[in-house]
Amino acid sequence: MSYFRSVWLALCIFLGLFSPQMALAQQSLATRLPIPCTLIGAANATPTDLLARQDSFDCAPDAPHAEGQVVWTLFKSVGLPPMQKDVWVFKHRYGRIRAESVWFRYDDGTILPSPTRDVEAVQRFSTADLVFRVPGHEAAVTDILVRLEGFQNVRGVTPLASVEPSTAMAVRASSFHLFYGLFVGMMFVTLLYALLFFTVLRHRFLLAYAGFAASVMLFGLSWSGGLAPLVGPMTGFFQAKTNFLAVALCCLTSTLFFSAFVGRQFIPRLPGRILTILSVLPILTVIVRSIDYDWHWRTMDSILFMTAALNAVGLAAVAIMAIMRGSQPAKLFLLGWSLPMLVAVARLLWAVDVIHVQSDLFDISFFLALIGEIIVSSAGIVLRVRQLRVERDAAHLRELALRELAETDALTGLLNRRSFLEQCMAGENPKRLILIDVDHFKDVNDRYGHLTGDEVLTELADCLRRTIPGEAIIGRLGGEEFGIALRADLAPTLPQLIRKRVADTRFPHGLKLTVSVGYALGQIADDLSWKAIYSAADQALIAAKHGGRNRVHRRSVPIAA
Ligand code: GH3
Ligand code: MG
Ligand code: MG
Repeated sequence: MSYFRSVWLALCIFLGLFSPQMALAQQSLATRLPIPCTLIGAANATPTDLLARQDSFDCAPDAPHAEGQVVWTLFKSVGLPPMQKDVWVFKHRYGRIRAESVWFRYDDGTILPSPTRDVEAVQRFSTADLVFRVPGHEAAVTDILVRLEGFQNVRGVTPLASVEPSTAMAVRASSFHLFYGLFVGMMFVTLLYALLFFTVLRHRFLLAYAGFAASVMLFGLSWSGGLAPLVGPMTGFFQAKTNFLAVALCCLTSTLFFSAFVGRQFIPRLPGRILTILSVLPILTVIVRSIDYDWHWRTMDSILFMTAALNAVGLAAVAIMAIMRGSQPAKLFLLGWSLPMLVAVARLLWAVDVIHVQSDLFDISFFLALIGEIIVSSAGIVLRVRQLRVERDAAHLRELALRELAETDALTGLLNRRSFLEQCMAGENPKRLILIDVDHFKDVNDRYGHLTGDEVLTELADCLRRTIPGEAIIGRLGGEEFGIALRADLAPTLPQLIRKRVADTRFPHGLKLTVSVGYALGQIADDLSWKAIYSAADQALIAAKHGGRNRVHRRSVPIAA
């Protein structure tokens, strides 16, 4: 799977970088048209009338804002050579438009409408351009007249228009479609991987990243017109709505990813809150628009784009604060996201007409930057997952060590009294409980000192451990008293064996030791049954001591009344 993904990524990067090159090579064949003259109103005028009365058009360089009205634009002195067939296209772009028609006047006085019907052009609205075919005729084209209805454009009525050979347009369109197709595919694979990794690893930032990849995928699909095969013909307004939704979702998911990836504790409180508000505001504008699209559209545009731009800037600023507070992942975030954030800010400023650029490269710059981001972030996510695993493993080891410390006796490493009891209660019944007490141990301490006494106890514990079968539980119940428990039907000779082994063992300083052993058979299921069997075994042990030590005694557990 990961081999497949690497090959896929390499292919995407290669073709993704190659296809815009192909498109850009064709760009030189396009001729940029000058700013057109405009006429507002005259809804019922005919193209013939208007082309005859060109002085009614306003040719001032300032583009008027006349949204909601019928607007005519006139491109003068276009100078397209005579062509028998439709080999040229007229192309321009608006933010959003409801209906549009185009006519061409030739220098023999003929006026012809574009064979591209207006709905057709608006519905094929793709990669932001509206494209109309120029009808072939034996004379040269002198003027182009455009009738617009219901348009919304931050830049006013001035379109960025050009004419170019339809073959060059087709090559450009197909190479851009290749580019966007690969981009969307890359996002899809990223989305899938983030989701799969989330199901296994359960890190929240993986889920947020999947959401981000889905939002960017939606943006790529919508911006390129790639949604059309999925949802049917798209109008410029539908496309704009989807674009806005995608931008708003990108803000939200990137902020969610940021806080989960970097770690909340590294994000200062106030800047974090501001970032959250900035990430939610774009969604609010989308909700308002879904109720009434035209309501204060210019203000809504500004809120959406400005909050999105501020969100991108804010993410960078808060990432720097998190780095200063010692967050390593914040460095990776800043490294991966700085380029897309810069481009996003530039594009959003372009959308509200603060900066003016027009080039195909600028059109796809955001997507190119995101390809870079995906590569850096994928590496970043892998590093972060590895870092979290190391942290998780260390925490697990610490917990194990603590538990062992709480359960075992520090001197001998055997179970302590409490956990010996717990484990006894868990196993199968009936059981044999064996108590072992060292004979005259005080003498060892008195003669050789406590340290030697400790060594002897450790050695004795090892000797017992070696003697008992695997199923038995062994613990140090107190000073020099040990307990062993195992199923009653196992190893019936174990008490004798223990006594003998200890007697045969040479302890530190060549010491010889003996033990007294008492045992009983019975249930160990709760406190009561434990007390009963323990006291029986203890009495057996006392009997063994009284009997002269170095011997084994057994007592039965009295039957409960
Ligand atoms: P017996 O059981 O045969 O009657 O004689 P004893 O000398 O073993 O008697 P008792 O049970 O009264 O003494 C146990 C001694 O074990 C007393 C205590 O100093 C010693 N002891 C208990 N815990 C430790 C320990 O952790 N280290 C050392 N060195 N000595 C211990
Ligand atoms: Mg003793
Ligand atoms: Mg004792």
